[in-house]
Amino acid sequence: MAHVIEPASSARAKCRGCGDPIAAGELRFGERLPNPFADGEMTHWFHLDCAAFKRPAPFLETLEAREAPLDGGERLGEEARRGVAHRRLPRIDGADRAPSGRAQCRSCRETIEKGAWRISLVFYEDGRFAPSGFIHVRCSQAYFETTDVLDRVRRFSRDLSDEDLRALQAELDGSTS
Ligand SMILES: [Zn+2]
Ligand SMILES: [Zn+2]
Repeated sequence: MAHVIEPASSARAKCRGCGDPIAAGELRFGERLPNPFADGEMTHWFHLDCAAFKRPAPFLETLEAREAPLDGGERLGEEARRGVAHRRLPRIDGADRAPSGRAQCRSCRETIEKGAWRISLVFYEDGRFAPSGFIHVRCSQAYFETTDVLDRVRRFSRDLSDEDLRALQAELDGSTS
């Protein structure tokens, strides 16, 4: 079966992208995958934004095949296309300040000092997102080949304050130089 975009029939499914429930009636993306435990297929559900950010290729394919117009479809398509063009962008899983000075940046290989802003990464493999380390926010340009990452970061770290977002933007602006 093809992937789908359809209203959630209940509020039971959790989004694979962010872990939060998908409200009943809200449009959601269903990615069909072969079931590794049985014959047939299984469906992984996502909020549309989470799908555009974290599963850009199957989401885009479904969006483009869709005939009915979709609210915000243009913006979602744009984000998904960026994720296909910059293949590391879908790894973004949010941002926080390093709680210790132990992790190493996957981009520059230097230690991420305690209190420094870092972006968390997940790798997608076999239908699962696995936590896969961090990069300095200032290494965004080198790692993602773009610094236009704040919408993704916000999506997966919804508790960031306006002040946090300004601090992140300032580091991202410094990242291009
Ligand atoms: Zn989600
Ligand atoms: Zn770094």
